Amino acid sequence: MRDPQSAVVQDRLSVSGSNSSRARDIAYHLHPATDARLHEKIGPLVITKGKGVNVWDEDGREYIEGLAGLWSVAVGFGEERLVSAATRQMEQLPYYHSFGHKSHPSVIDLAEKLATMSPVEGGKVFFANSGSEANDTAIKIVWYVNNAKGLPKKTKFISRKLAYHGITIGAGSLTGTPWNHRGFNLPLSNFLHVSCPHYRPADAESSEEVFADHLADELEQLILAEGPETIAAFIGEPVMAAGGVYVPPATYWAKIQAVLRKYDVYLIADEVITGFGRTGKTFGCETFGIKPDMMVLSKQLTSSYMPLSALVVSDEIYQRLADQSHAFGAFAHGFTGSGHPVAMAVALENLAILEESDLVGNAARLSPYFQERLRSFLGHPLVAEARGCGLIGAIALATVPENGEQTPPGLLGRLLNDACLNRGLIVRAIGDAIAFCPPLIITRDEIDEMFRRFGRALHDVHQNSTWRSVTVAATSPK
Ligand SMILES: *Cc1c(COP(=O)(O)O)cnc(C)c1O
Repeated sequence: MRDPQSAVVQDRLSVSGSNSSRARDIAYHLHPATDARLHEKIGPLVITKGKGVNVWDEDGREYIEGLAGLWSVAVGFGEERLVSAATRQMEQLPYYHSFGHKSHPSVIDLAEKLATMSPVEGGKVFFANSGSEANDTAIKIVWYVNNAKGLPKKTKFISRKLAYHGITIGAGSLTGTPWNHRGFNLPLSNFLHVSCPHYRPADAESSEEVFADHLADELEQLILAEGPETIAAFIGEPVMAAGGVYVPPATYWAKIQAVLRKYDVYLIADEVITGFGRTGKTFGCETFGIKPDMMVLSKQLTSSYMPLSALVVSDEIYQRLADQSHAFGAFAHGFTGSGHPVAMAVALENLAILEESDLVGNAARLSPYFQERLRSFLGHPLVAEARGCGLIGAIALATVPENGEQTPPGLLGRLLNDACLNRGLIVRAIGDAIAFCPPLIITRDEIDEMFRRFGRALHDVHQNSTWRSVTVAATSPK
């Protein structure tokens, strides 16, 4: 699929010399989340530097990073304080581990900080390197603890369709996006998925609240059908992000939690994207009144300057785990990089910046304006829906544009994604939705400029009629 109008893509098509970085990327680099064959043709967009909300490619083109990298660079690019924190830690103690009772000052400081910040009661903190590893750890801890409690049958997990919890075998089974399962023999059995809490006024339900009642009822019916003695935990992102950005109805979480409590099902809040201010409060759990037994953190924890994730577990879970580890001789789980000193130092400095610059407050203050600008595209013939919360949002494109012809799924998203690049804006197309999740340091003027560029890209795609012919060709039976 090529977009004939995109200068950036055109440039990448004419990959120069076999020694160019693009040619070497094609030759040697297997990319995550990329169409490998298409990549052989168009090559990579090579980003070489960043500052604030902007990044530049190797040809010197400037972009606004409308997705903060992968929903993660809260403090923006080129933050010198994080560079110094990493350098100082590298000089002092570049590596140590925390197996077998070892520790070091930075891991102690960050564990204390996260345990006291988090709404998880009496929390203790386990460190890993990625959101996926933290979620796999959560699965293993739930199984370990339920075995310790003499409930070996209580093993099943419930997640939601279109949820994103990562891509390792366990986390990938919690994930509910079909494109992350296809071809991978996932999800594993005993990982169940209920409906995505995406309310559309056009749906049969008369109101968001009736819809939330139906979702709570669906969950209860599933628990009863499977047998409550087999259901271990429910996991959810307070606001679903990577699956397409879906904000649940206001009373959804209260109703879901009532069902979970009734059947003794643990609740895991996956705050990998919502954590540290994205919804306008420090945690999505505060925004939605969620009281989790475990909380998963990553991405904005270090602004992605270092890979890091944290799993906060409640005292109730910890007490069972502690007894079991004593009985077995160890809690035999952990990573070489668990509590990596450089990641700890960067996270501590990143959290200090978040506090000193009041970036959570900035997100809260700017979110009404951000959401208003997002919704200002409603009424455009290519726009079906605008949704979001805090400084995260998405515009869903109309797959049936005004001429009545059905576009193939994902086509408009890809075209608009490329048109945005061409206009100096990096966003993320999730099927036919375009997601926005800018760095938390963004200003009102930068929000204006981001949506100005988006508006131009939307106009480009709408004006360019080439996709209309693609529409007809691509919808004919294969
Ligand atoms: C990104 C993400 C993950 C996975 O994190 P990785 O570091 O990519 O493994 C898990 N949960 C949520 C909500 C995420 O957004």
